[in-house]
Amino acid sequence: IDILLLGSGGREHALAKKLAESPRCGTLYIAPGNGGTLQEGVNVALAEDDPEAVAAFAREEGIGLVVIGPEAPLVAGVADAVRAAGIACFGPGAEGAQMEGSKRFSKELMERAGIPTAAYGSFTDEEAALAYVREQGAPLVVKADGLAAGKGVVVATEQGQAEEAVRECFAGAFGDAGSTVVIEECLTGPECSLLAFTDGKTVRPMATAQDHKRALEGDRGPNTGGMGVYSPVPIVTDEELAVMKQVMVDTVAELAAEGIDYRGCLYGGFMLTPEGPKVLEFNARFGDPETQVILPRLENDLVDVMLACAEQRLDDVELSWRDEWAVAVVLTSAGYPGSYEKGKVITGVEDADALDGVTVYHAGTAVTDAGELVTSGGRVLAVTALGDTFEAARDLAYAACEKIDFEGKTLRHDIGLKALRGREA
Ligand code: ATP
Repeated sequence: IDILLLGSGGREHALAKKLAESPRCGTLYIAPGNGGTLQEGVNVALAEDDPEAVAAFAREEGIGLVVIGPEAPLVAGVADAVRAAGIACFGPGAEGAQMEGSKRFSKELMERAGIPTAAYGSFTDEEAALAYVREQGAPLVVKADGLAAGKGVVVATEQGQAEEAVRECFAGAFGDAGSTVVIEECLTGPECSLLAFTDGKTVRPMATAQDHKRALEGDRGPNTGGMGVYSPVPIVTDEELAVMKQVMVDTVAELAAEGIDYRGCLYGGFMLTPEGPKVLEFNARFGDPETQVILPRLENDLVDVMLACAEQRLDDVELSWRDEWAVAVVLTSAGYPGSYEKGKVITGVEDADALDGVTVYHAGTAVTDAGELVTSGGRVLAVTALGDTFEAARDLAYAACEKIDFEGKTLRHDIGLKALRGREA
């Protein structure tokens, strides 16, 4: 079948590669794609957030499956339009995408389902929010309700900081996304994600992963889209994993009970607190860069799994995983997440990719008319390595990073060190 994949990041390159590997995959279109997805299929210019434009393209090209990578098209209702056109779609409709698109929505749903999560209040009125801050006292976490590309969250250690964050939100720092504010109890512990495939009835958890959000080594500096990741997460106990899996099952059951037909990937972001795992957030899609360490370990045919989700046949599918560790290191342009230059020539990708166990995923890359691979974004490449041990995977990922060069190439050298040091480090 012919497939249309929406998005342009490293996540989409990983999805594209895995879909293209399937014998069932006909023509693979990626909209808009990047310099890496070009090798897996056909990049097309299409307004990925426009439900009618995507549905029209899918109809005209006889697409049999649409796969939605990023959150914006999900929240915009692209999946609803595609399904209304009678085409199978991997990704929840606008209602289900509220699990990510509205923090208030997801907190209220968790409350109704009895899912372990931080205590909270949600407010549309500034004075009421400030009163709550004073009543609770610091530390507190202040979150803009809507999508803010990871920038709408302030972990406030001081009461004044929390009050300031509330005022900024209501003053419009995040536009409409901040007209509702969620204020949470501050949890502590290591973070861990668990992704799951679901068809709205059956839930198939994937592997755990741990991202590194901060730009600088030692988890310092500003938040980014993610500087590196590994999977599975060695510090997670069997008991914690069982709780996380149950949360995914209970959440999908609650969505279904409330009449929301959720078909796609549900991403649970957890904090492993002393009282057990608690949900920090849900995302309505695969994580980036988590996808770049999860998919290389998946042994199933991804077209089979995604169609089973879209057609509510996931009950027939069992997932199987390679018994290997995966570590990915992200190479960024100097200056990211602030301003950075583009158009720098990238060398060594083929050499790195040729190493046994290494896959280089493209994010911010483009191919010029002259056929040169150049940088075109902040996160440029994710270099993933598989290994029989965590150390082997980590060493191989860094060896592969050495082979790649471009002006301004920047990376964190401490990806995975926390896992090696263990829980209390
Ligand atoms: P992203 O999608 O980029 O991860 P987001 O904007 O959806 O971010 P959250 O995941 O809710 O926001 O929060 C971002 C980060 O803030 C978390 O990864 C975590 O480090 C911290 N955080 C969020 N909620 C809490 C909490 N209740 N207690 C402590 N830390 C928290």
